[in-house]
Amino acid sequence: MKIVTIVGARPQFIKAAAFSRAVKGRHQEILVHTGQHFDENMSDVFFKELDIPKPDYNLGISGGSHGRMTGAMMAEIESILMKEKPDWVLVYGDTNSTLAGALAAVKIRIPIAHVEAGIRLGTLSNPEEVNRIVTDHISQILFAPTQLEMENLQKENLGTGSYVVGNIMYDSYLHCMKQIEEMEDVEIYDFTGQKIKLPEQYYYLTCHRQENTYDDVPLKEILKAMNQLEAPAVYPVHPRNRERAERLCRENHFQNLLLIQPVGYKESLYLLKKCKKVVTDSGGLQCEAFYGKKQCVTVFGWAGWPQTMVGNRNQLSKADAHEILEKLSREQEVCPDYQPFGDGHAAEKIVEIMEGKR
Ligand code: UDP
Repeated sequence: MKIVTIVGARPQFIKAAAFSRAVKGRHQEILVHTGQHFDENMSDVFFKELDIPKPDYNLGISGGSHGRMTGAMMAEIESILMKEKPDWVLVYGDTNSTLAGALAAVKIRIPIAHVEAGIRLGTLSNPEEVNRIVTDHISQILFAPTQLEMENLQKENLGTGSYVVGNIMYDSYLHCMKQIEEMEDVEIYDFTGQKIKLPEQYYYLTCHRQENTYDDVPLKEILKAMNQLEAPAVYPVHPRNRERAERLCRENHFQNLLLIQPVGYKESLYLLKKCKKVVTDSGGLQCEAFYGKKQCVTVFGWAGWPQTMVGNRNQLSKADAHEILEKLSREQEVCPDYQPFGDGHAAEKIVEIMEGKR
């Protein structure tokens, strides 16, 4: 098979690493990087650390409005697809790169495989929800991480052609966790490029969703909560929010936060492994906290991964300092056998199913 894989954002590089490993030597994969995330910390480090093949095409498209970005990507991807004539276009998750890849492919009748299909928040006010729904409805094969997403697809009459394969992020997590066991320290840097020592005890914070960072109010509440904890929060800041996060900490004298440059995937897993608890709005990190049995508070209005929300292991909170602190103070109950995200071989299953559909 000839497969064109579209990636563009950090979590897609992590997923693509697992798929590329599974497909290598069996089929031809052409990797298209849209450029949505582009710099050393948000892109290059993942290719290096995770041994992802160098992209065959790099479109260099980032920033601008949703429509402008998606449209520009679509035009470029269409040209590539017309030239390459692949058997499949493979897209991951729910970003503008996902939507652009799927829309470009469907119009020229190239079958689409969507990995991480069936996630539904139930609101179109979340920009990624639109990308998920449209992509699922125009794809030929849908790969759901768990039975729950499969049920969401069935409710939309998309059950035929859908498969539960496990969460491909869990493949990457297990693969890299083996290497993390041998890591004794982690290199983290502040925004001046100064190396920082990781505190003995800390909370791991990530926050970058549009809903929490579109203006000062929600982000300030989150930072305020973290500032009141007994241990500092280590916060790798997404470049989009750097100015706001730095300014809010300065203006409000929040001294209990370590704002650092975004880290690579292995570094992120190391931060997770050593932290006390996680506070995040990231879909990927809340799942990783679950795999690693670290308690997580997800600051977001909707549950993207309700499977993790058992025994206080992952609790939703509004962007409200009081609520975040209250949820962090609760005990979690871990049931060691409960692991709904598959066996870490989602990527191999995806390749086999695609082979069967050829
Ligand atoms: N992550 C990372 N470096 C960081 C922050 C997060 O590698 O500085 C990882 C994190 O462990 C998770 C993924 O990036 O695997 C989540 O990506 P992101 O939060 O950008 O997207 P989402 O999961 O919300 O789609």
